[in-house]
Amino acid sequence: MRCPFCGFEDTQVKDSRPTEDGMSIKRRRFCGGCQSRFTTFERVQLCELTVVKSDGRKESFSREKLARSIYVATRKRAIPSEKVERIINGLQHRLETLGESEISSRLIGEMIMGVLFELDSVSYIRFASVYKKFSEMTDFQEFIGKHLDDKKENPRKKKESRKYPSLFEGVDDEVR
Ligand SMILES: [Zn+2]
Repeated sequence: MRCPFCGFEDTQVKDSRPTEDGMSIKRRRFCGGCQSRFTTFERVQLCELTVVKSDGRKESFSREKLARSIYVATRKRAIPSEKVERIINGLQHRLETLGESEISSRLIGEMIMGVLFELDSVSYIRFASVYKKFSEMTDFQEFIGKHLDDKKENPRKKKESRKYPSLFEGVDDEVR
């Protein structure tokens, strides 16, 4: 597998073992090109899915794309990668068992929003800012205000709600 950091083609597998839920194989890899370490997960693909985008264009479902958007949203949020991987597996499983071969990108976006809402407010808001294409600071303010109200209405999840200033905590300057 190609190194995600430097593009070197010949990375080595250092260790392989099944994840806790037995649904994936986790492999720790090492790049001889840039000395980076990274982890990949291998799982069964049940069926081919087509994603229909909002402008009507179609593309085949990409687990990598789904995973990337969730990893970006949860980056540096102290959520274990195994947990993130379980969430991705869960989402993919739900998509594959909808019984539809074509799925709208909007549905996928809403499903991710639902999962992140439960998981972590900061990840949720980060994902929403990309998904809903926030362009103004007021978009954030409005969304965060509404989000905090939603959390209040659901006291079970109240402990997960986080304060506004922590929104970009841990995000590198270049991403800000
Ligand atoms: Zn590399």
